[in-house]
Amino acid sequence: MKEFQTIIGLEVHVELLTNSKMFCWCSTEFGRQPNTQVCPVCLGLPGALPVVNEKAIELGLRTSIALNCRINKECIFVRKSYFYPDLPKNFQISQYGDPIGVDGYLCIGTKNIGILRVHMEEDTGKLIHDERTGTWSGIDFNRSGIPLMEIVTKPEITGPDEAEQFLQELKRLISYIEVSDCNMEEGSLRCDANISVKLKSDTKLGTKVEVKNMNSFRSVRRALTYEQQRLTSLLEKKKEIFQETRLWNETLQITEPMRTKEEAHDYRYFPEPDLLPFRIDIDTINRVKSEIGELPQLKEKRFQSEYGLSPYDSAVLSSEKTIADYFEQAISFYAKPKQVANWIQTEILGLLKEAKCRIDKCKVSPQSLAKIVEMVDNNIVSATTGKKILREVFATGTDPEALVREKNLIQISNTEQIETMIDEVLDENPQAVGDYKSGKTQALGFLVGQVMKKSGSKANPAVVRQILQKKLD
Ligand SMILES: [Zn+2]
Repeated sequence: MKEFQTIIGLEVHVELLTNSKMFCWCSTEFGRQPNTQVCPVCLGLPGALPVVNEKAIELGLRTSIALNCRINKECIFVRKSYFYPDLPKNFQISQYGDPIGVDGYLCIGTKNIGILRVHMEEDTGKLIHDERTGTWSGIDFNRSGIPLMEIVTKPEITGPDEAEQFLQELKRLISYIEVSDCNMEEGSLRCDANISVKLKSDTKLGTKVEVKNMNSFRSVRRALTYEQQRLTSLLEKKKEIFQETRLWNETLQITEPMRTKEEAHDYRYFPEPDLLPFRIDIDTINRVKSEIGELPQLKEKRFQSEYGLSPYDSAVLSSEKTIADYFEQAISFYAKPKQVANWIQTEILGLLKEAKCRIDKCKVSPQSLAKIVEMVDNNIVSATTGKKILREVFATGTDPEALVREKNLIQISNTEQIETMIDEVLDENPQAVGDYKSGKTQALGFLVGQVMKKSGSKANPAVVRQILQKKLD
């Protein structure tokens, strides 16, 4: 069996979170009527002049810093010429020789993946094909000119799973630093991949194939897995591999040839004559650095060392900045990190998923959650009641303590009251009592459940179990 080696490089396009486009003042809002957010600049009309969006440059700089890149002090924009209906100027303003950031890295697990470059450009319009009748196509230029950032990795990714892992980590980083919402469904994050396979013993790299049209991280992994197998089998049969671009077909789960790949010189890059080079001074770099805040990987480690959380819990709680902030706010009201972490993971995240809601829009404030967890821990309410209260606060936003008073939900730990209920349950369930006495110990759980039911989940289950066991034995 011959041994093969796969090498993958990714090109990730990220739409930036700016209010206006890259070179004009048109809105970037998603989902409006086609061609309502356009002007002479983003329609490429003759004589229109571009003006650089300062916020977009700042977001590009923030990303370059977060990806440990060297920052080019002087960057230039270039024209990348190609002809396609979604590109009204017949060229795209992009960066080539002097991008904003170069030579960085992103750590995944224990490995650094090199970042070749981070550059700024503008998005194209969007072609819409009428798939029902197949009789017309339209172009929506609302997307034309939206600030776009391209992140190109070095060819250092060794397989489809690692590619997916890299994308997850990159998405987490970019969302954290508030550069993009990274919403793949709305196209704010798109990914193309270059893949080549060679014999491990070969010193020369294999011929690379570009794969496009992947709409989720899962399809990136699947498309690359398919392509890896296709290239390996060509090598095994000693057949020629062509340098080409292939499209991922989500329905058929295969890649299909699209065109042979352009070379850089086909794009006829040259400096954009309508824009001056822009300079980034050291003060700006230092200011942006100081504003970035704690990056997710550091936060994840700190959650373990400072709060004693497990690696898994830390990873979940630092998966999004809003979740991490919520957690830290909640423990500022009730300093039991492990308990609060459990409630967020098992209850809050579940409720949010059910309601398709974001944690920063959640009606349970961090303070309310802290109160609920504290009441359960102090046996003021039972865990079951605590969960019910949480559901109600989630729906209405009421204060949990007021709810406990109003609805008289305070847990019964009074042994006399509990004993009375136990006696009733024992009378009503002779069968279960018999089972227990004949050695079926699981009957105890059933009886505890009956007492809890009778108390409206208000009895303290630990006290119930204790008294019940004593009475039965
Ligand atoms: Zn415009």
